[in-house]
Amino acid sequence: MTSANVTWHEGAVGRMERWQSLGARGATLWFTGLPASGKSTVAAAVEARLVRDGRAAYRLDGDNLRHGVCGDLGFSPADREENVRRTAEVARLLADAGTIAIVSVVSPFAAGRAAARALHERDGLQFVEIFVNTPVEECIRRDPKGLYKRARAGELQGMTGVDAPYEAPVDPDVELTFGCDVGEAVERVLSALDPAPAAVRGTQPAR
Ligand code: ADP
Repeated sequence: MTSANVTWHEGAVGRMERWQSLGARGATLWFTGLPASGKSTVAAAVEARLVRDGRAAYRLDGDNLRHGVCGDLGFSPADREENVRRTAEVARLLADAGTIAIVSVVSPFAAGRAAARALHERDGLQFVEIFVNTPVEECIRRDPKGLYKRARAGELQGMTGVDAPYEAPVDPDVELTFGCDVGEAVERVLSALDPAPAAVRGTQPAR
């Protein structure tokens, strides 16, 4: 999607120069799953671990983005599609900049997730799809925001897992099944990530 009458303006440094200089490698970790499946919990733990290890990582939480960049969108299928499209575009920019973008968004439709992956892969960026596969009965039991309760009482329409569909990934890069604790989940996600290059600064070979 491109506006009319605009021309791409190249910068003076390319991605590889930027990444080498920063000792960073950008990528996107994309968590998908039902509401209350545990996406945000694992995403936050992954972010904390990466940042404490000295890597640039930044969470793009679906609910948080709806406080700003996606705050004009609702939950109709078209708005959900636009929500995923914008989130993927922001993640791609962060990844290009050398940050690990950590997306946690229900992203119920396979086509939207495939488009997010294609956007990254066309641009030579790693995209890791993580399916947080928690059974709906467990999500309903947890229900920390009370959304399932409200949807089941008919007070809320279009709730994924109640009266709106969730298309489960067929071939995710990582699948976190129910019973996997958060620490184990973090390890599994991080092991899917390509390692960062050494920083240019301070790593010149000794003469
Ligand atoms: P989502 O982001 O998918 O909506 P959350 O991360 O907010 O889900 O988690 C929903 C609830 O499930 C929270 O109360 C959280 O503490 C709990 N939870 C998340 N991950 C796990 C886990 N691996 N094991 C047990 N409970 C979990």
